[in-house]
Amino acid sequence: MSDCIFCKIAIKEIPANVVYEDEYILAFYDIQPAAPSHVLIIPKEHIPSMAQVEERHKELLGHIHLAIQSIAERLGIQESGYRIVNNCGEQGGQTVHHLHFHLLGGRPMKWPPG
Ligand code: 5GP
Repeated sequence: MSDCIFCKIAIKEIPANVVYEDEYILAFYDIQPAAPSHVLIIPKEHIPSMAQVEERHKELLGHIHLAIQSIAERLGIQESGYRIVNNCGEQGGQTVHHLHFHLLGGRPMKWPPG
């Protein structure tokens, strides 16, 4: 999508601090980190949110979650633990309308989230 900031990051039109990339996904540091380690994992395909995920995306979602394990390893948070967050829609707190998963670690997490 031409006006999507994460699509622009995916095609390197906007710079980002990339920690992992392959044919299908990109992971980069969040510009406003909410934890010592805060990385966003996005599909390169523009999917607006979890609410628009389709049957054909099943493999992609599995791929993202397996990649998160190795990204966590790279960040040094695999052993200590981490949180994966997806904000979906207005009440879910989503601000960028391109599917993304937050990987947060490096500090103890609280529950429930705000
Ligand atoms: P959401 O609130 O939609 O779940 O998360 C969007 C996240 O994207 C926020 O944590 C925000 O800081 C991050 N973000 C927004 N614009 C940019 C950007 O241009 N670059 C990077 N690296 N992160 C961004």
